[in-house]
Amino acid sequence: MTTADASTARPEWRNAKRVVVKIGSALLVDRVSGRLRATWLNSIADDVADLVADGREVVLVSSGAIALGRHVMGLAKGALELEQSQAAAAVGQISLASAWQDVLRTRGLTAAQVLLTLGDTEERRRYLNARRTMDTLLAHRVIPVVNENDTVATTEIRYGDNDRLSARVASMMSADCLVLLSDIDGLYTAPPAADPNARRLDVVTAVTPEIEAMAGDAGSELSKGGMVTKVAAARIAMGSGCHMVITSGKVLHPLMAISAGAPCTWFLAPSDPVTARKRWIAGNLEPRGTVEIDAGAEKALASGKSLLPAGVRRVDGDFDRGDAVIIRNPAGREIGRGLIAYGSIDATRILGKKSSEIAEILGHSGRAELIHRDDMALAPV
Ligand code: GLU
Repeated sequence: MTTADASTARPEWRNAKRVVVKIGSALLVDRVSGRLRATWLNSIADDVADLVADGREVVLVSSGAIALGRHVMGLAKGALELEQSQAAAAVGQISLASAWQDVLRTRGLTAAQVLLTLGDTEERRRYLNARRTMDTLLAHRVIPVVNENDTVATTEIRYGDNDRLSARVASMMSADCLVLLSDIDGLYTAPPAADPNARRLDVVTAVTPEIEAMAGDAGSELSKGGMVTKVAAARIAMGSGCHMVITSGKVLHPLMAISAGAPCTWFLAPSDPVTARKRWIAGNLEPRGTVEIDAGAEKALASGKSLLPAGVRRVDGDFDRGDAVIIRNPAGREIGRGLIAYGSIDATRILGKKSSEIAEILGHSGRAELIHRDDMALAPV
């Protein structure tokens, strides 16, 4: 076993009380045989037991259902149709959950299977319900083993990748740290296989367009997510005040390796606390539209003001009152998200207008603000 030398780990890891760990299919399932990689699985179970013994709460987000199931069903080769992957997930999820149950039980830990769909983290009532359940499991020292409910999640209602799912879970659970175990030890300035000058970043403090450009696209055969979904996960996690780390899962005991200062990329969340409501807006709602604001409104928002119709140049999308929308600055960059007080038809009619004109234009009075500051989460810059 790797010896943990806590003195070399970052404080964000040392002090993390609640940790979400995402484990990809390629780490858990052997590509050729389609079987679980038992030695590796046991090594990570050791790590989880060590973290729990150290007083941490651990949530696992484990992929592998489809990868396991497709072999059993004789669908090992080629791309799968949606219904084939859903069927494969139904077969594989049983083995996956049972494998986790076995390796955790032998270490004195209880596993719980939690299957989520997109709506469980998007819709506030279901989100609160899922959170309460998981909180109860953690309070009883049970390890939730989460996966997407692939069998019922169709194209429109699925995450499709466990990178973003794990970030939503981390945000929902107000986790301190999200670990993405990957086949690469972090985010590089360029694809390391193609560019000898590629350099791994140690720390990222904001997901800028430059960082997004570095992500490229590197999905492997077994896992859905490449760097693109990992950077998207970082945006969700950081927006919720949760630090995220990408590190290699190719070693045995990858979590103890983090404690020992293994190479990785840390995405550090800003230290100022955000309210639960803002977290939810920033990280958990699928935006239904976009509002593009002018430079004056951008300044006003940065100084903590609400968004008025007068500061909006353009509205896109088909949304209802109360839906989440993306707020873009005049350069087209996403600067935040918010719950909009008007549906798309009314919003389009009042954009650029003074709030005092709203009643006359719409024939009924409404809120003076298009997006109230309490309903708005600005991206960290
Ligand atoms: N939920 C999928 C599975 O368990 C994995 C998605 C992913 O690879 O990110 O097979």
